[in-house]
Amino acid sequence: MIVAEQKPLAEIKEMLQGYDRVLVVGCGTCVTVCLAGGEKEVGILASALRMATKLDGHGIAMDEVTVQRQCEWEYIDPLRERLANYDAILSLGCGVGVQTLAERFPDKRVLPGLNTRFMGLPTEQGVWEERCQACGDCILDLTGGICPIARCSKQLLNGPCGGSQRGKCEVNSETPCAWQLIWERMTALGMLDRLLQIQPPKDWRTSRDGGPRRIIREDLRLPED
Ligand code: SF4
Ligand code: SF4
Repeated sequence: MIVAEQKPLAEIKEMLQGYDRVLVVGCGTCVTVCLAGGEKEVGILASALRMATKLDGHGIAMDEVTVQRQCEWEYIDPLRERLANYDAILSLGCGVGVQTLAERFPDKRVLPGLNTRFMGLPTEQGVWEERCQACGDCILDLTGGICPIARCSKQLLNGPCGGSQRGKCEVNSETPCAWQLIWERMTALGMLDRLLQIQPPKDWRTSRDGGPRRIIREDLRLPED
């Protein structure tokens, strides 16, 4: 899932200065699961902002809605009729959700209530960890299902680096060394010989260096008129 966390209340209040009526929009998918921007968080944040702005002497009227997914037109289109009542939208979606709202409703100010952090998973109650950086050319088949791009601090393809200590990364002693994990997994799978094959430098063209990425599936496109 996409993992996000809420911005500090003071920062959100600062963004909302000058607006009288705000619609707080939650998202029912990733940010609900990571407890940052679902219906419950929308309710708590809207209440906190109502109180805080009232105490400041300029109370902002806040309404709340949570859509199933902010990152698809069909789920946000039903909001259109309501938007005339608001000066601004405060999105508790991830960065994609915020941009989807801004793109669909260009005459409306859309503000981010979350900081989008990474793609990952909850590893225990209250802890989320990064697992994928969407490099565009997955190599998990070579590394026993453990990603050195997202989980090795140096993104080594031929690790470990030599600084690993007692299974922890030399960059951060609280982080497991990804290459130690890879080594252990490949040993358990009886595939250690694969790790002895030197991997060439990664071709980063599928990643971020070429600007915004796009996937086009001709088999799914509608015919042109
Ligand atoms: S190799 Fe690339 S696509 Fe695969 S998990 Fe790692 S970052 Fe994600
Ligand atoms: S200690 Fe392990 S995780 Fe850290 S940079 Fe070196 S190989 Fe990567």
